[in-house]
Amino acid sequence: MSSPKQLIEGFSRFREKHFAKDDALFRELIEQGQTPRTLVVACCDARVDPALILDCAPGDLFVIRNVANLVPPAENQGHYHGTSAALEFGVRNLGVGNIIVLGHAQCGGIHALLEGGVTRDDSFIAEWMGIVDAAREQVERELAGADNQVRHRACEQQAILVSLNNLMTFSWIRERVEQGTLTLHGWYFDIENGQLLGYDTSTRQFTKLQ
Ligand SMILES: [Zn+2]
Repeated sequence: MSSPKQLIEGFSRFREKHFAKDDALFRELIEQGQTPRTLVVACCDARVDPALILDCAPGDLFVIRNVANLVPPAENQGHYHGTSAALEFGVRNLGVGNIIVLGHAQCGGIHALLEGGVTRDDSFIAEWMGIVDAAREQVERELAGADNQVRHRACEQQAILVSLNNLMTFSWIRERVEQGTLTLHGWYFDIENGQLLGYDTSTRQFTKLQ
């Protein structure tokens, strides 16, 4: 269900649903602009569209998607900081009150990180995944003998925590968190079991949210 022809037909159904039956919402979104309360950092994986799995309406979520839902640390080297620029806009311009780093099971980026799946010299992926190399090191240290599913799941969840720590390296995020106007959340979509887990800072575990 994703050929261009099918997608155009999908747009027709979207327009019918939202502009004909629910035009008050779009009138509000157009007149007032976007006012999302939550920013989500999600993976590019086709199975983990945040608006779909969290059952949101247009305008509800400010979404950043990249390979393996990573947040890089604040740094000024390089030129093209797509994720950092989007974070800045969501936090400083839109004033979101929540940031959710939404990881997921069976993440291809984490698989490549653990199994060395990217070996091409001209690949962008290996360097990008280096953002969470500390998660890989921890899993290899603590779960060296475990089976792949356990190691991958642990790394997917540990990578979320690295990204949460990296969020705090942006001064305009840290300030808002310390003032209590912005809350950070680590969530994990367990696509294999149909569950949504959240990181509990008191128990240091991912537990069921629903
Ligand atoms: Zn992924």
